[in-house]
Amino acid sequence: MAPLVGVLALQGDFEAHRKALERAGARAVEVRTAADLEQLDGLIIPGGESSTMLKLLDLEGLVQPLQEFGKQKPIFGTCAGAILLAREVLNPHQPSLGLMDLTVERNAYGRQIDSRIATIDVQGKPAEAVFIRAPIIRRVGPNAKVLAEYRGDPVMVEEGKHLVATFHPELSAGDRIHREFVERLGK
Ligand code: GLN
Repeated sequence: MAPLVGVLALQGDFEAHRKALERAGARAVEVRTAADLEQLDGLIIPGGESSTMLKLLDLEGLVQPLQEFGKQKPIFGTCAGAILLAREVLNPHQPSLGLMDLTVERNAYGRQIDSRIATIDVQGKPAEAVFIRAPIIRRVGPNAKVLAEYRGDPVMVEEGKHLVATFHPELSAGDRIHREFVERLGK
């Protein structure tokens, strides 16, 4: 059976992630409560506004269930999702799930170029990267592996079972990046 991946659907773009997951050979469901996490093989935390998502996670009582889930199963955080997974968040400092040993600076590309489409190299192959008010990963822990960089900064990083991208892979046509995640499920 194809792996079942939840997409946190409190805020942000569920539909595009669902389609990309299906292109990559997975089944996708929306996650809004702790009960929705049962049965999942993995979870995507999508882009959006990380401070708003944090408030909603608090309101729904999802912070601890997500931290527990992340001890067992892979999570893929994209953009705001990457901010939520990081251990340390700057500009401004805010709490997070702390599941990956990363320091992330929000809205770090500045006003002039805060959104853009670039071609990045992901492990030797080109991929489109859509950046929207993206963070910059300022520090990666010793167990993290940088899978892609843009302008010398890491933009896609894995640590243990988890994966983050500071861009929006669900907005690009291919399934390359989602496939990277789907392939690590159940391992
Ligand atoms: N700027 C947002 C934040 O700081 C992230 C943007 C995004 O997810 N596209 O939370």
